[in-house]
Amino acid sequence: MKYISTRGKAPVLSFSDVLLAGLADDGGLYVPETLPKFSHEEIASWVGLPYNELAFKVIKPFVADCINDADLKRMVDETYAVFEHRGVAPLVQLGSNEWILELFHGPTLAFKDFALQLLGRLMDHVLAERGERLVIMGATSGDTGSAAIEGCRHSEHLDIFIMHPYNRVSEVQRRQMTTILADNVFNIALEGNFDDCQEMVKDSFADQSFLKGLRLGAVNSINWARIMAQIVYYFSSALAVGGPHRPVSFSVPTGNFGDIFAGYLAKQMGLPIEQLVVATNRNDILHRVISGNDMSRGTLEHTLSPSMDIMVSSNFERLLFDVYGRDGAAIADLMKRFKTESVKLDSEQWESVRELFDSYAVDDETTCQVIAECHAETGYLLDPHTAIGLKAARECWRNKATPMITLATAHPVKFPEPVVKAGLHAPELPERLSDLMTREERFTVLPKSMTEVQTFIASKVHRD
Ligand SMILES: *Cc1c(COP(=O)(O)O)cnc(C)c1O
Repeated sequence: MKYISTRGKAPVLSFSDVLLAGLADDGGLYVPETLPKFSHEEIASWVGLPYNELAFKVIKPFVADCINDADLKRMVDETYAVFEHRGVAPLVQLGSNEWILELFHGPTLAFKDFALQLLGRLMDHVLAERGERLVIMGATSGDTGSAAIEGCRHSEHLDIFIMHPYNRVSEVQRRQMTTILADNVFNIALEGNFDDCQEMVKDSFADQSFLKGLRLGAVNSINWARIMAQIVYYFSSALAVGGPHRPVSFSVPTGNFGDIFAGYLAKQMGLPIEQLVVATNRNDILHRVISGNDMSRGTLEHTLSPSMDIMVSSNFERLLFDVYGRDGAAIADLMKRFKTESVKLDSEQWESVRELFDSYAVDDETTCQVIAECHAETGYLLDPHTAIGLKAARECWRNKATPMITLATAHPVKFPEPVVKAGLHAPELPERLSDLMTREERFTVLPKSMTEVQTFIASKVHRD
C-alpha cells in the first residue's frame, strides 16, 4: 500500500517511510492511497476473535508490503498482551443499548496506549531492518508524553526526548513520564509553557542539523500508524454488540480528530456504523464547523478535560481531503487561507461532513453534572473526557434501537478535579501504579533556550 499527502505535492511513500516521517514535505498529512475494504461475510467471520487476532486482520492490509505476517503478528501480540484487562478493550453496559468502551487498561491509563504501544514496536522493527537510528522529539501538556515514553522505552534503535512545561503538569502526569528510567528516555522540564515546548519541537524539525546526521521522528497524532491502530477497537466493539449484522453508533471525546477519524475509516472499510458523534469541550471548533460551517480559530480555553484543549484539530485535514474528492490542491488552498482567516467549506462538502458526523459541545459545569448523574444512576465513575462523550451521545442519539457506544478515553484517576467537583471521592491509583508517588524520578530542567535544548539532545543521543 502506498501513502499520499493531503496536499498533493509530497512524494508517495511506503508504510515504513510514513511511519518514520512526521508531516509530509508539502505540509500535508499522509493517508493511504486506497483504503482496504472488507466484505460483510469477512467481518462476520471475525465475531468472537481475541483482540490481538482481530488487530492483525485489520492492520495487515495497511502494512503488508513492508512487514511480513510473522513479524506483524508478534508485534501485535506483544502490544496487546501489555494491557491489564484480558478483553483489552472491554465494554460496560450503562443502560439499554448504551455502552462504554473502556480504552484505559494500558500502561498509562488512557487510550493513547493502543496506538503508541504498537508504534514503538513498529518503529524499532523498521529501524533495525534498515540499520538506522531515530530521535523522537515531542512536547506534551500531559497525556501523550507518558504514552509515547511507555511505547518507546524498550526500543533499541531510538532515543526519545519529551519536553513538558516545568511545574505545569500534574504530579501524576509528570511521574508517569519521569519514573521511567530507561537509557533511551529523556524528560526535559522546560522553563516555559506548553506552547514554548511545541515551538521548540517544531523549529527543531525544521532544522535538524544539530543532530549531525541523525533524524527526527514524530509520535504525535499526525503519525499515520497511530490512526491505523485505533481503527481496530471500532471493529472489536461493534462485533461485540451484534455487528456487522446490525449497525452501531459511536460517540468520541475529540481533540485532534485522530480517534474519531479512525472510526470514520472503519466505516469506509465496511463496518456498518450509523452515527459518529464528535464530542468536544468548550474548545469547539469542530462542533462549530459541523453544525454551522464556521471554521475559525477560537482562543484556547483551559477546561477540566485538558486532553481535548486544542484550538485546531490537525487530523481534520485528513477528512477534508476525502470530502474534497482527494483534491490536494484544494486542500492546500483551504489550509493556506485558514492560516490567516476564518474559512467556510463549500456547501456540497459541508453537507458531506454533516452526513458523516453529528456533534455536540459540553462545558465544564455540565461535565461535572454528567459525572455526578451517571454515578448516581449506575454507580459507574466517568473521567471528564468520557463524560463529555456520554453527554454528546445522549443528545445526538437518533435511533435508540441502535447500540450507542461512548469511547472512555481515560481512567478517572487521571483527572480527579472534576470528580471531586461532582461531589464524589477521587478514585485510588490502580494496583500497578500504587507506588507511583514514591518511585525514583529522572528529568532535566532546562531554560527556554533553543541552543541549550538542542545541545542537551545532541549530547545524549546514542549513535552506533
Ligand atoms: C488525546 C485524548 C483525547 C482526544 O483524542 P484525539 O484523537 O486527539 O481527538 C480525548 N481524551 C483523552 C483522555 C485523550 O488523552
